[in-house]
Amino acid sequence: MSDCIFCKIVKGDVPSEKVYEDESVLAFKDIHAQAPVHLLVIPKAHIPSVRELGEKDGALLGRIFSTINRLAEENGLAERGFRIVNNCGEEGGQTVHHIHFHLLGGRSLTWPPG
Ligand code: 5GP
Ligand code: ZN
Repeated sequence: MSDCIFCKIVKGDVPSEKVYEDESVLAFKDIHAQAPVHLLVIPKAHIPSVRELGEKDGALLGRIFSTINRLAEENGLAERGFRIVNNCGEEGGQTVHHIHFHLLGGRSLTWPPG
């Protein structure tokens, strides 16, 4: 998707602070961090939202969640606890339509969200 900001980050056309990369997954720092640790984990392939996910994506999702666990460990969150967020659609608060999982931690997080 040529007009997708996260596809541009994957291609390197837009700079980002990358913290993990392999052939199918990229993780980078959120530009507007909401917590001491706020990372975004995305597939390199353009998938608009969780609504497009299904059985076919099992391996990719396994890779995404093992990446989240690796990053939680590296950032000292594994024992403290952390939050994984996916926003889907307008009322879900999704603003970038390339699926992404927020990894938030490093402070006590309130629940429920607004
Ligand atoms: P959403 O609201 O769609 O769940 O989350 C999108 C996230 O992407 C927001 O937290 C926002 O700060 C982040 N974001 C938007 N544009 C950029 C960008 O160009 N670079 C980075 N690193 N993060 C971005
Ligand atoms: Zn994209």
